[in-house]
Amino acid sequence: MAANQKRPAVKDGAAKRSKAKAGAAKPSKAKVSAAKRPKSRGALSGAALERHALEIQRRLEAAYPDAHCELDFRTPLQLLVATILSAQCTDKRVNMVTPALFARYADAAALAAADLAELEEIIRSTGFYRNKAKSILGMARALVERHGGDVPRTMDELVRLPGVGRKTANVILGNAFGINDGIVVDTHVGRLANRFGLTRETDAVKVEQALLPLFPRQSWTMLSHVMIWHGRRVCDARKPKCGECPLRDICPSALT
Ligand code: SF4
Repeated sequence: MAANQKRPAVKDGAAKRSKAKAGAAKPSKAKVSAAKRPKSRGALSGAALERHALEIQRRLEAAYPDAHCELDFRTPLQLLVATILSAQCTDKRVNMVTPALFARYADAAALAAADLAELEEIIRSTGFYRNKAKSILGMARALVERHGGDVPRTMDELVRLPGVGRKTANVILGNAFGINDGIVVDTHVGRLANRFGLTRETDAVKVEQALLPLFPRQSWTMLSHVMIWHGRRVCDARKPKCGECPLRDICPSALT
């Protein structure tokens, strides 16, 4: 995932992602209007909640127009491997490890035949390397046995692969295949959805189900990106920079 943060997100298929980087959210001069701000988390519902959600999305997309997946990849398989490695690890670290990994194992068949100890050694610095190596091996073998070595394009098939849950599947569908099947809910998206007052759920699957009806389907992948970027750059878990946040006049959690 991103620079020094834990967790993944966006970009399009076989083509390599753009290197363009969006700047951090620009502070606005406008003063926070307590009157505009929802009184408490979850205080809005129905049409008001939908308007609140869409305004948040509009502002985040304006703040991070170039938001994208910060994992380096060229193929769906590479993104799948990188996403598995990104668990409890920064994107920056994953991106340091994957060039050698992808050079050593060119496709699913090569990965499926990998020596476990050698694979563990290559990915050791990403942490939890034993479990990750087992997941990658198991995933690659399943791809060879069930899908001819290709990464499947459906949620049902993806989540049946070892080491692949709904979040990882959404990353692959959205960024490798351009399919908006769901919203990636990682630690940032889950935290921000609560701070924005969009849900009180904490379980990732329930957060996703709460978010889906609030946003246009074609925007789900980009929504994950801009929320993750905002969580990494401004709305930090411990020290949110509310004073420079473009949402501070409408965020029920603003510390101002
Ligand atoms: S940084 Fe502050 S104002 Fe901005 S979204 Fe986070 S909690 Fe709300």
